[in-house]
Amino acid sequence: ATPITKPHAAMFCSPGMGHLVPFFELAKRFVTQLDFQVTIFVLSITDASTIRSHQFLHSASNLFNIVSLPPVDISGLVDTPFIGTKIAMMMHQSLPALRSAISEMTSTSTSSDLPPVTALIVDIFGIEALAIAEEFRIPKYVFDISSAWYLATMLYAPTLDVKVLDEHANKKLPIKIPGCTTLHFEDTHDVFEDPNSPARSRFLCRGKEASTADGFLVNTWEDLEPKTLKALRDTKLLGSIIRGPVYPVGPMAIPVGPTPPPQPVSRRSHVLDWLDLQPTESVIYVSFGSGGTLSAKQTIELAYGLELSQQRFVWLVRAPVENDASGSYLTVGNDDRAGNIISDYLPDGFLSRTYNVGLVVPTWAPQTEILGHPSIGGFLSHCGWNSSIESIVNGVPMVAWPFYADHKLTAAMLTEEFGVAIRLKVSSSSNGVVGREEVKMMVRRIMVDEEGHSIRSRVKELKHSARKALSEGGTSYCSLSQVAKDCQIRLQAYSDL
Ligand code: UDP
Repeated sequence: ATPITKPHAAMFCSPGMGHLVPFFELAKRFVTQLDFQVTIFVLSITDASTIRSHQFLHSASNLFNIVSLPPVDISGLVDTPFIGTKIAMMMHQSLPALRSAISEMTSTSTSSDLPPVTALIVDIFGIEALAIAEEFRIPKYVFDISSAWYLATMLYAPTLDVKVLDEHANKKLPIKIPGCTTLHFEDTHDVFEDPNSPARSRFLCRGKEASTADGFLVNTWEDLEPKTLKALRDTKLLGSIIRGPVYPVGPMAIPVGPTPPPQPVSRRSHVLDWLDLQPTESVIYVSFGSGGTLSAKQTIELAYGLELSQQRFVWLVRAPVENDASGSYLTVGNDDRAGNIISDYLPDGFLSRTYNVGLVVPTWAPQTEILGHPSIGGFLSHCGWNSSIESIVNGVPMVAWPFYADHKLTAAMLTEEFGVAIRLKVSSSSNGVVGREEVKMMVRRIMVDEEGHSIRSRVKELKHSARKALSEGGTSYCSLSQVAKDCQIRLQAYSDL
């Protein structure tokens, strides 16, 4: 008898931890909950954060198959400040390699060890790969590693008259997106800030192409974004733009399935040891994601602000980079610039004055473990979606300090929609630098003031709703089961064509 092969999901993931973390978690759920085989295609890039991410991926390589696509070089192709554009170009360059790998897996005549691909799941920057699935008649899905609001914006923007987008940029007029809080210019995605930027056209193209997917998996959950999810399903609203259903399957911030064995005591991060010694909910964690960097002046102001707040802190600090808030994202060797010279870019005497209350960690920290530690009481964050939901699922209130890409959009959601954060103000007279007094005030508001306490209670409610959504029978759990069924039905329909 022919052996029964499992369904096989191929995932095409962008580089950078912000994408790999949720894809990794999604892959685990396909294996443990749906009993799929999974192959994750990743790009071979030799920057520091991606090397770290590859180590991270390989730590679970017994659960799924990881294929590194050959290295790509985009240096001669694109000169853009937009990190999203750079990533999309890299993904574009990798398409031929992805195509031949899928072709090989799909062909019955090759000796591939893997069963044929039954679904292709692509990242928001790998939308062009949907055409490969189309060619091989494989069901095709987009996994939006960000919010439903981000997905709504990406899908809706290409349907708008270009005049509306121009007026948004030129006259700062707001845009109404069904099911979402009004998009004010101050909160807009950075690709919409300049009407002439090629990044905007590329974003719109991606949105248009994305709408052809057979379905959308979203790193959110029903109770977090009910209005937006409803609008995405409503055929009189956003549902009319898309072909397939929307599946909220998140948050991908609570690991499921087999847990890694406990770290030997000698390998446990010293940050966690330090946190063990601090009182409950007394420490603010300060970090700007896998790529965020500050200017030299901003680094100094943040340091003084933390010191003046008189609160305990863990600060993930990186060497300053001028005029590029994403300076550490996909940047070769950035790790090496930090390390031993921290005191060179911090105020004189800062490390010794804050020795008893603060811990400065260079370059990288075990963020999810830190946020899950009982001593953490607040998070000063750049509002990357992963960081935001990692904070929520650990019941940690935030100070939102958005930087680039969709961070301002997320900051608006965290403060206005979810009520889990307060937002730091960048004064227009300060050249974009947030002063020490503002930092001090915001840290104290979240850590000490009554306001911080009520925000903390709100985050804790959402924390429970996230755990409920993921538990057996919960909304995200059931949504993922639906994806498996959808995939089988579509596969059958494609093969009947
Ligand atoms: N991260 C981490 N340690 C760090 C910095 C980041 O573990 O020092 C992880 C973080 O937990 C999150 C991801 O990297 O899962 C960053 O994703 P996010 O969407 O927050 O921001 P991005 O890096 O994409 O801007």
